[in-house]
Amino acid sequence: MTPKHHFSTLAIKSTENTFEEARPVSMPLYLSTTYVRNPDGSYNHDFLYSRADDPNRKVLENSIALLEKGAVAYCFASGMAAVSAVFQSLRPGDHILLPDDIYFNIYALVKEVFEPWQLEASLVDMSDLDAIKTATKSNTRLIWLETPSNPQLKITDLEAVVAFAKKQNCLVAVDNTWPTPVLTRPIEWGVDIVVHSTTKYFGGHSDVLSGAVVLKEQNERAERIARIQALSGGVPAPFDCWLISRGIQTLALRVKAQTQSAQQLAEFLEQHPAIEQVNYPGLDSHPQHAIAKKQMPDGFGAMLSVLVKGDAKQAMALSNRLELFTTATSLGGVESLVEHRKSVEGEDSPTPGNLLRISVGLEDARDLILDWERALADLV
Ligand SMILES: *Cc1c(COP(=O)(O)O)cnc(C)c1O
Repeated sequence: MTPKHHFSTLAIKSTENTFEEARPVSMPLYLSTTYVRNPDGSYNHDFLYSRADDPNRKVLENSIALLEKGAVAYCFASGMAAVSAVFQSLRPGDHILLPDDIYFNIYALVKEVFEPWQLEASLVDMSDLDAIKTATKSNTRLIWLETPSNPQLKITDLEAVVAFAKKQNCLVAVDNTWPTPVLTRPIEWGVDIVVHSTTKYFGGHSDVLSGAVVLKEQNERAERIARIQALSGGVPAPFDCWLISRGIQTLALRVKAQTQSAQQLAEFLEQHPAIEQVNYPGLDSHPQHAIAKKQMPDGFGAMLSVLVKGDAKQAMALSNRLELFTTATSLGGVESLVEHRKSVEGEDSPTPGNLLRISVGLEDARDLILDWERALADLV
């Protein structure tokens, strides 16, 4: 470029990156969709085109694989895109087992998109190993788990399910969105695939949508997921990856603090006369508390649900009386949320009408408990 070039040429060439050798401490954002090719035809770090790969995604994928103790991770534009990639890696005629209180959109995805492509699915109570054994068929290829489950907080014994699945030559996948690898690392229990909606705790600030698939081994299935990612193109934007990477830096601090507050809130709510039941694996009263202690030695997560004494209308009214808990869907952010789950999931959902799902944020636990005390006072 010389000053002799015309205006349009100067406008393009004068704004090119001339600071390639600068060494910023924090990860820069690489928005470029394409990368300069070397004279011999190669590309530095194999970055060629950003659907295939880019530095922000690479850093994020390496980080998530490391934190989940996996061999490799692939990031997607949403948690649902990550879930889809796992199902797409199966074959027509394969049968999968899903939790009976699975995140409801995954069930809709299987019913509306994958069943027409000949994937078969059955719903099972994943806290009951005998029920899993009974539901397994000769063509069962994948057992899909959420532990704690959404929204009933049921716990699955990962060690027991993995031992059974190995004998059946069947894969085990865990949607680890709720506990995060801070509290449960399914691959350490022998699980093959971990899936995340990184929209939730990884991002942590309710401002970015994305997902990830982590594989225990760099094998043929990993290769297949990599191809599905690159060819289907449901990839996260560099800025999404940048935000999630930034969230990861404070993930452990946030999850541990939110978990402590959730435990306190669960204990408060359990003794309150206006509450029929609290679903939280950190309570002695939880049916799988012992398994939860084994799998979640550092805490039981920041999600809980309560059954309010009364009907759906009364539960909804109660959620509106809370001041510090915003009535909204989603979870895992710094702000506390409360949600009447059945009205989001629809009439067919098995979720009880008097259930409220709570995502505990980073506000002071004393204020959060007082908020419930005040809102519940009118009910007793
Ligand atoms: C939110 C969520 C998903 C879906 O993720 P998106 O990022 O919203 O696509 C999947 N599983 C669980 C457990 C979730 O909470």
